Amino acid sequence: MSATIIDGKAFAATVREKVAAHVARLKDENGITPGLAVVLVGEDPASQVYVRSKGKQTVETGMNSYEHKLEADTSEADLLALIDKLNKDPAVHGILVQLPLPKHLDEDLVINAIDPAKDVDGFHISNVGLLGTGQKSMVPCTPLGCLMMLRDHHGSLSGLDAVVIGRSNIVGKPMAQLLLGDSCTVTIAHSRTKDLPEVVRRADIVVAAVGRPEMVPGDWIKPGATVIDVGINRIDAPEKGTREDGSVKTRLVGDAHYESCAAVAGAITPVPGGVGPMTIACLLANTLTACCRANGLEEPEGLTA
Ligand code: NAD
Repeated sequence: MSATIIDGKAFAATVREKVAAHVARLKDENGITPGLAVVLVGEDPASQVYVRSKGKQTVETGMNSYEHKLEADTSEADLLALIDKLNKDPAVHGILVQLPLPKHLDEDLVINAIDPAKDVDGFHISNVGLLGTGQKSMVPCTPLGCLMMLRDHHGSLSGLDAVVIGRSNIVGKPMAQLLLGDSCTVTIAHSRTKDLPEVVRRADIVVAAVGRPEMVPGDWIKPGATVIDVGINRIDAPEKGTREDGSVKTRLVGDAHYESCAAVAGAITPVPGGVGPMTIACLLANTLTACCRANGLEEPEGLTA
């Protein structure tokens, strides 16, 4: 194995430290405490874990965390009324509605009801447009984390060939915009791309955001390229044995086949411990950024796009 391992867990810890230090200064010098409101509708177990983790890390960095847990059958009108209340609350600088929402709620309508200045997920149509036109916006957390790691590893990204595999609104598309903003030559590949291996072989930077376990093998990777693996896939791991109920134990893998890619790449993010931890760290960074902007204060350095 020759690739440098980009340690997202360690990087995320440094981001959280920077956020905490800036939050402490805001409190001391300006008497302001950033606040993040997280809204969870229903009892999806994975969403509950994410929301708990977000709340815990928010408090650990010195910010206020406001959790709003609503019943699964909450009406759209009640959810929109809560968002309106949070939009008007000066103690709340960031609002995150945990997705997915129950089927009877219109996700686009709900997301676009959030004040764009408080939209720390960066999913509001205004933020999408601002990012697309190179203006100051709230940037989706996962791609922002990928960008931070790439900048840290490469310094300048200018002129590099980047291939983003996946065109989702939450990862692929904003990732491509960010790379374009840093002057990469960007290709977005997706399920209909012809000859994906050849497209990926051109890339100095490969960002895989598909959700298919180990679909990118090492022989697609240009020697020395950087592989950012966004995928989080749970697969059976019979080598780990079985649980008490007889079911096979599982493990997490990315969209890249780690061993073969690491043998060719110049750098790679592992799964777990790569992009994943950066996502919540960037949510905290976005909350701080939103708070600074709301108060006309200087933004934290190195924590925005
Ligand atoms: P998505 O399902 O919305 O989008 C997947 C994209 O992959 C689509 O654009 C599709 O065109 C493309 N695709 C599907 N099959 C393909 C193929 N065979 N070849 C090329 N492209 C193909 O997924 P998403 O929300 O963007 O998430 C992608 C992955 O990233 C998932 O594994 C998800 O769990 C993970 N994820 C991780 C984080 C994190 O914090 N690390 C955050 C968000 C998503």
